[in-house]
Amino acid sequence: MSGFAFANSRRLVIKVGSSLLVADDGELDRDWLTGLAIDIAELHAAACEVLVVSSGAIAIGSKVLGISKKKARLEDLQAAAAVGQVQLAHAWREVLQEQDIRAAQILLTPGDTEDRRRFLNARGTLARLLERRVVPVINENDTVATEEIRYGDNDRLAARVAQLVMADGLLLLSDVDGFYNADPGTNKEAQHIPEILGITPELLAMAGETRSAIGSGGMATKVQAAKIATHAGCSTMIASGVVHRPVQKLRNGARCSIFRARGTPAAARKQWLAGSLTVRGRLRIDDGAMSALRDGSSLLPVGVLGVDGAFERGDVVVIAAQDGRELGRGLAEYGSSDAARIAGCRSAEIESLLGYRSRSVMLHRDELVLFDRDD
Ligand code: GLU
Repeated sequence: MSGFAFANSRRLVIKVGSSLLVADDGELDRDWLTGLAIDIAELHAAACEVLVVSSGAIAIGSKVLGISKKKARLEDLQAAAAVGQVQLAHAWREVLQEQDIRAAQILLTPGDTEDRRRFLNARGTLARLLERRVVPVINENDTVATEEIRYGDNDRLAARVAQLVMADGLLLLSDVDGFYNADPGTNKEAQHIPEILGITPELLAMAGETRSAIGSGGMATKVQAAKIATHAGCSTMIASGVVHRPVQKLRNGARCSIFRARGTPAAARKQWLAGSLTVRGRLRIDDGAMSALRDGSSLLPVGVLGVDGAFERGDVVVIAAQDGRELGRGLAEYGSSDAARIAGCRSAEIESLLGYRSRSVMLHRDELVLFDRDD
């Protein structure tokens, strides 16, 4: 594969490895970062939303605090991450600002993408930033994440982010220009594989042998990330970032590998919802809400006639017609007791009814699936 497979992408996550933006002396490579910001501005101009997952906090902070990464204890690395993250975010803010683009910092721990209640919170915030054309600059919250509760590497974090925001493209920029069937550093016979249609055990075994030299993520973590993303309907590209303006280079035909997703992100999300085994409750809705849902809208409290069962925000609930017929499923934006209090009310009344400011919808349109009428 050569060239940019994401020319038609609408929402792209770009993952940047530490080795690309931090030199051996711990200094940030501003020229490189500026080049990527120009690439991002071009993507924006082509109506593609961009999120960045940027590593580098530990590398920068270790230099500032004089910590040797090899000998450091966990607390030292966490302290380094805290110091480095400020500089990292600042640098992104500056280079994006030069392109007239605003940046936002988001620090995540696995709970934010795995726990469904927090998943909804993170998704809501990211969606609002993207609507406003802000580029979220995301990293793991290394300061509080310890070994047993880490994503472990930013390849995996980037894949989870892609899944969270229903991105259609994930671009993993690192020091290798794609996937090889053996380690190209040690094996002259290693062949570049341009297009990967399925992630088989054989492929994972090949990835195990081909580690990239720097960063915590080797080829195996990239393939694992591709697996998560492609299952979520997001195609994944591994490409070299060791060049100025890497996205432009891809457009001009630079070598890379692509793992193609089978379906779309929306189809993958709906399939997951439809197949979820644990359903905790039910929202009965009126005919007006039913036709609004069929037209692709979210479910507003005003259309809800009744709430059955005990559920929490983030649980899967059934959407039912007045006569109890099952129409579909969705992820509850409200737990059952709050949902019952605002059922039938206008969204503007939510704050006074609950005593706190909250979401205006009961079920978000991206987080619900409707069954075919004759099911
Ligand atoms: N979160 C780490 C950092 O900012 C990087 C982890 C990784 O690159 O996989 O230094």
